[in-house]
Amino acid sequence: MANIFSFGLNILADIFYPKYCFGCKRSGSYLCKFCCTQVPSLAQSFCVVCNQPNAGGHTHTACLTELAPEQFFAAFSYHTELLSEMIIYGKYFFIPEIFTVLGKLAAQRLLETNPQLRHLAADGFVLCPIPLHSQRKKWRGFNQAEVAAVAIGNILKLPTRNLLVRCKNTKTQKDLSASQRKSNMAGAFACPEALLGPLPENILLIDDVSTTGQTFLSACATLKAAGAKKVVCMSLAKD
Ligand SMILES: [Zn+2]
Ligand SMILES: [Zn+2]
Repeated sequence: MANIFSFGLNILADIFYPKYCFGCKRSGSYLCKFCCTQVPSLAQSFCVVCNQPNAGGHTHTACLTELAPEQFFAAFSYHTELLSEMIIYGKYFFIPEIFTVLGKLAAQRLLETNPQLRHLAADGFVLCPIPLHSQRKKWRGFNQAEVAAVAIGNILKLPTRNLLVRCKNTKTQKDLSASQRKSNMAGAFACPEALLGPLPENILLIDDVSTTGQTFLSACATLKAAGAKKVVCMSLAKD
């Protein structure tokens, strides 16, 4: 019954909000096969701690503390108009499928330039989306990072688990100064093992957009303080 209901809803959504490609505006999908090939990959890799370039997205030796992530991957630039348009539209017009499309494309792109990502499955990595505060998730109806994580997991053959909860309804990072961003994110997450089960040792944190990396740093610190050994971060786009 639920399936028939959601099938009906999907048909209605297609009638009132027909899918069209954000690139060429042809109908049928949010990003057609041709336009997928036209989205430029992020040209550089960055250290997530100091936000400066570093090969392979590794955290600089000088930046690597016990609670910091080891590596950071971002597939695209948020300054690519097509990408930011899709992300904003998906979030504010409530279309989770856009994050499935972007998650799949991001994982495929990152695999082309970083074939070692295939080994994450053998190393027992588990995908963990950056959580939304429960109020915001209720409002949006989905967590875009979670939708992207499932799509990335399908490509990288990794399971997705919600290992974190957001205990602070933080302000949008975009409008804050560097020091405000840091204090805004401090203590934003909790890792309640009693609620979520034993923590995996190796975790791939997923977010839709990363700006200064403060969200990743705060989430990673929470996971490592709870016992995670290695944390790698991945975002669809870097601002
Ligand atoms: Zn197109
Ligand atoms: Zn650094």
